[in-house]
Amino acid sequence: MIRLAIQKSGRLSEDSLSLIRECGIGFLSSTFKLKTEATNFPLEILFLRDDDIPGYVQDGVADLGIVGQNVLVEAGLMPLEVEPLGFSKCRLSLAVPRGQAYDSVNDLQGKNIATSYPQLLGSYLAERGVQAHLHTISGSVEIAPSIGLADAICDIVSSGSTLLGNGLREVETVFRSEAVLIANQNLSAEKQELLDQLRFRMQAVRRARR
Ligand code: ATP
Ligand code: ZN
Repeated sequence: MIRLAIQKSGRLSEDSLSLIRECGIGFLSSTFKLKTEATNFPLEILFLRDDDIPGYVQDGVADLGIVGQNVLVEAGLMPLEVEPLGFSKCRLSLAVPRGQAYDSVNDLQGKNIATSYPQLLGSYLAERGVQAHLHTISGSVEIAPSIGLADAICDIVSSGSTLLGNGLREVETVFRSEAVLIANQNLSAEKQELLDQLRFRMQAVRRARR
C-alpha cells in the first residue's frame, strides 16, 4: 500500500482527483473524510492542506504528494519532484499600484513588499542585486498596498483579474508553476514499484489529453 497526499479543498483538489480517476483508480470520496482507500489499486489517499504536503512527504508520513511547484520550491524541497502534471498552471508575480511609475526591478530597491513567498522572492531579488524589505503575510496579500502595508506585492496570478480589482499592475514574473508529483526519497522496493506504475499511468493520461 502506498500513501498519496493531495489538497483537501482548493485549486488543486478537483484536478488531482480527476487525474487519479483517469489513471483507472477507483475510490469513494467523502468531503468529511481525511483519507480513503482505492478499490482496485494498493493506494491510500490523504486529504491535507497543500502547504503541509511537501514536509509530510519529506518525513515519510506520506509516500507521494501532489502540490504546486511554488509551494515545493518555497519549502526548499525541490529534490522531491518526480513528475510534472500539467495542471494548476499559474505564476508568481510582482505587482505595484497602477498609478505608480515602474521601469525595472531596480525601482523596488529599499521598498516594502508583501508576499507569502519570501524564499522565492528573496532569491529572485538577490540575483538582481535588489535589497527590499519583505513582509511575509499568509493571505489577502493583494490588499496590502491599499492599506499602506507595502509599496508592492508578490503573489500567485493566473488571469490577473484579482490584481486589477485591487488597483494593481503586474510588472515582473518571478516564477512559473504547475502541479507536480512528489515522492519520498527512501521508498521501499515495493513502493518504488507502485510509484513507477502510477507514473506510467499518469504519463499516458497526459499524452491522451494532448
Ligand atoms: P490550502 O487551504 O490547502 O492551504 P491555499 O489557499 O493555500 O489552500 P489554493 O488557492 O487552493 O491554496 O491554491 C493551491 C495551489 O494551486 C497554489 O499553490 C498554486 O500552485 C495553484 N494556484 C493558485 N492560484 C491559482 C490560479 N489562480 N490558477 C491556477 N492555479 C493556481
Ligand atoms: Zn495553502
